[in-house]
Amino acid sequence: MNKKSIRDISLYGKAVFIRVDFNVPIKDGRIEDDTRIRGALPTIKYAIEQGAKVVLASHLGRPLKDKKKAEEKGTPYDPSKYSLRPVAERLSDLLGRTVSFEADAVFSPLATLSEGDVVMRENLRLDPGEEKNDPDFAKQLAEGIDVYVNDAFGTAHRAHASTEGITHFVDTCVAGLLMEKELEFLGKALNDPERPFVAILGGAKVSDKIPVIESLIERKVDKLLIGGAMAYTFFKAQGYTVGKSLVEDEMMPKALEIEAQAKAAGVEFLLPTDHQVVDSYDPLNSRKAIQIEFTNAGLVGLDIGPETATVFANALEGAKTIVWNGPMGMFEEKPFDEGTIAIANAVAEATDKGAISIVGGGDSVAAVNQAGLADRISHISTGGGATLEFLAGDVLPGVAALDDK
Ligand code: ADP
Ligand code: MG
Repeated sequence: MNKKSIRDISLYGKAVFIRVDFNVPIKDGRIEDDTRIRGALPTIKYAIEQGAKVVLASHLGRPLKDKKKAEEKGTPYDPSKYSLRPVAERLSDLLGRTVSFEADAVFSPLATLSEGDVVMRENLRLDPGEEKNDPDFAKQLAEGIDVYVNDAFGTAHRAHASTEGITHFVDTCVAGLLMEKELEFLGKALNDPERPFVAILGGAKVSDKIPVIESLIERKVDKLLIGGAMAYTFFKAQGYTVGKSLVEDEMMPKALEIEAQAKAAGVEFLLPTDHQVVDSYDPLNSRKAIQIEFTNAGLVGLDIGPETATVFANALEGAKTIVWNGPMGMFEEKPFDEGTIAIANAVAEATDKGAISIVGGGDSVAAVNQAGLADRISHISTGGGATLEFLAGDVLPGVAALDDK
């Protein structure tokens, strides 16, 4: 992607605002998972080393929406749950230096900062101006700032004050190291993939993934493998019985259209050839693998079958680019994680043999982590919704707002 990165500019002595994604799970003031804080360390350390005066800002949860809901329902609202203070403390530990915490989203006494100092501001979303992309709030955020860095890919699909508005008030706007990596990997896969290029799509709903599937077909992905509940909408549209499996009836015409598009574009389009099903009356003790057609209408498909796992794994052999979004089954419930884990292994093996592999989507990333295979994937995208929008070919406002190279 031709966007300037933090490595392309000089930071010494400058007040550098870094929009990070510190939206971490916090319970009773304790951070339950600090993956996102660790993820931002390279950019923060780089800025410190370069002698920047670092100002960090992030959102945490949805305080104003939760407050409104609590008021409507008459349930208690605890504002302390939305403070980034515990994150500043954890960051201090991880960096081995003091990160001062500013109990306000806009103010930080920039004049008192020295080169290499780090200050963190309070949760951006405590101010209604953040999500509204209010220009006044954006201007306040930018006060005294010389360089804006966006390292929060996961919120780049939202035009908020800290992702888009602020860039109108700061002269130099660049990508952080995490953002740069996302743009490199996703951009290359989308615009200049090494072939064969194989995409694996799964998950619950076709409707969530239509723009991604269409964008991949347009880009003439070589193979498209479809698993997960999504496959049942395709099967039902083709006239198969799918029992009580999850189907989006209103998406059936679209499913047929997508299949036709794929064929017309010369894309090899693979659906499962067998499924792991359960009897809806005895789900715990009735798992078995069946072929495509559900001769028993009381069954529910919860995973791809072993034959499909092999067919899909074979389809990945020799791939040079792999994009994967959406689990192959209800992976949260063992043993319906088997299909997803088999595919995760196949993707890891293809990567060992030289493929560039990209896994995106909250649940897909969780599945790869659960399988212990994250280290063998080229790029684990942090984006969730942003990753899907990027793969769908959309311009993300938080990316568009950065300076071109
Ligand atoms: P991602 O977050 O990676 O984009 P999705 O949110 O689209 O993935 O899909 C993940 C969800 O799909 C999981 O909760 C999983 O249980 C569900 N799922 C996948 N296959 C099935 C199935 N056959 N039946 C029911 N749910 C399924
Ligand atoms: Mg999901």
